[in-house]
Amino acid sequence: MGDRIDILFPEREVNNRIRQLGEKITLDYRGEEIVLICTLKGASFFACELAKRIDLSLILDFISVTSYGNSTNSSGEVRMIKDLDESIEGKHVIVVEDIVDTGRTLSYLMEILKKRNPKSLKLCTLLDKPARRVTDVQADYIGFSIPDQFVVGYGLDYAQKYRNLPYIGVVNPGR
Ligand code: 5GP
Repeated sequence: MGDRIDILFPEREVNNRIRQLGEKITLDYRGEEIVLICTLKGASFFACELAKRIDLSLILDFISVTSYGNSTNSSGEVRMIKDLDESIEGKHVIVVEDIVDTGRTLSYLMEILKKRNPKSLKLCTLLDKPARRVTDVQADYIGFSIPDQFVVGYGLDYAQKYRNLPYIGVVNPGR
């Protein structure tokens, strides 16, 4: 049987929220240049959409870290797969993430980035699952807070599928 996807946030709602986040970031960093760091692969759709809504001088860079575990749960072990192309020293940096779940991946990533001496370092996530947190990671900009459900779409996958869905949905795996 195929997986059933129940829509949680339709495309229009997601796009509206991203526009609001872009406007807020534009106001908060008025007159400054920022570096948006997109975490691959999940945040790619969100980061590109967000970047288009930010009216500032902006550099987009990409980083990839993996957290081990099965397809719906991360373990504590995290490894860098692809590093940034540019230095972030002295720059205003915003890390763009798809979802903060336990916070383990982000906790590792933010520590690494902090050591590179950015002028400021903030975190923007499309989705936040606060109930699952086991670290003290807190996002500065949050698209939507959600309960403990496994979501897909808008860049988020289930076994590498469903990233291309234009909405965010809850996946109910078929058997
Ligand atoms: P954390 O280290 O915060 O537990 O996990 C973060 C990563 O786990 C996310 O970047 C994402 O790749 C994956 N993840 C956590 N929750 C979900 C979810 O509900 N759906 C999907 N597709 N991935 C998730």
